[in-house]
Amino acid sequence: MARAYNFSPGPATLPESVLRQAQAEMLEWGNARASIVEISHRGPEFLSVAQGAEADLRALMSIPDDYAVLFVSGGATTVQALLPMNFAAPGGHADYVLSGHWGKTAVKQAKHYIEPRIVASSEGSEPGQFRDVPARDAWKLSYNSAYVHITANETIHGVEFRDVPDVGAAPLVADYSSSIASEPVDVSKFGVIYAGAQKNLGPVGITVVIIRRDLLERSGQPRAEILDYRAIAKGESMLNTPPTWNWYLLGLTVKWMLEQGGVEHFAALNARKAALLYGAIDGSGGFYRNFVAPAARSRMNVPFVLHDEALDKAFLAESEAAGLMALKGHRALGGMRASIYNAMPVEGVQALVDFMGDFANRNG
Ligand code: PMP
Repeated sequence: MARAYNFSPGPATLPESVLRQAQAEMLEWGNARASIVEISHRGPEFLSVAQGAEADLRALMSIPDDYAVLFVSGGATTVQALLPMNFAAPGGHADYVLSGHWGKTAVKQAKHYIEPRIVASSEGSEPGQFRDVPARDAWKLSYNSAYVHITANETIHGVEFRDVPDVGAAPLVADYSSSIASEPVDVSKFGVIYAGAQKNLGPVGITVVIIRRDLLERSGQPRAEILDYRAIAKGESMLNTPPTWNWYLLGLTVKWMLEQGGVEHFAALNARKAALLYGAIDGSGGFYRNFVAPAARSRMNVPFVLHDEALDKAFLAESEAAGLMALKGHRALGGMRASIYNAMPVEGVQALVDFMGDFANRNG
């Protein structure tokens, strides 16, 4: 069986070389005489893996020294609950800008602890319909907000901020789950960047939280130590047993990105892949359509519909048979979605575009 081109939104495709290395090292890591998953997280072997992954991620993303990098479990959703607990005072408020589904989940998680204020939203007249980022000049940022939260890339709606918005004094907090390390980003413009790893950074089960260190001094809400980012930073993300296997795989994936040429390389590659796919959609004479405003189209997740939804089943079955998997759209939007993260090669997108052209010819 050959591996298919996998367009899954996450858990998502990983570089084959990373999987092969993990396979080769599964029984014995280095000279540890055991697998990396069988040894103490406090031993020298795993500590070298953990510290290497952090150093490589810092190099990949040019993360300044005045930022802490945490490796935690619980996914991006848990971060969304911990943000207000750590960075907003009891009775406080924070501003949320909505450009899709995941911004809404951030609000949902926060409202148990603070007043989340939706200061801008691009939701259309139909609930759940997002096709753009809200225009910056319409944001009504509130006075003394604990932070301003955005979703850098909305994985379901395929809506992406193409510029880092200026939000003034409040720290900008960004959910980068589905676009982290996909292009150069000036980390110093953010208070917090967070991302579940399962799209661009490797396996599900580990989450990266990058925090400007001065924010760790905020007292936040009363909380247990295990929910306290300052304590987690001090404990080097090892207050309890960390997900060692996931951390190891993340490290291999980050190293692979550095070897490929870093974020500049992926920015160029991702631009090429996105241009190919959107070009095929826009050039199909209406057979395929994507509804997102061109300036906010995601380079990572490309939702599209067929002109006749009766063809969806055949499209999915035939694409699967052609070695293109996981193209079914999110249930909230229907249609199709192709997720084309860093590890998706141009050849995969070219194969998809060729299939789409052929399918349209046969069914147009
Ligand atoms: N934010 C974004 C942008 C996402 O794409 C996802 C997951 N697809 C989440 C948050 C939730 O992440 P998790 O499942 O890791 O909690």
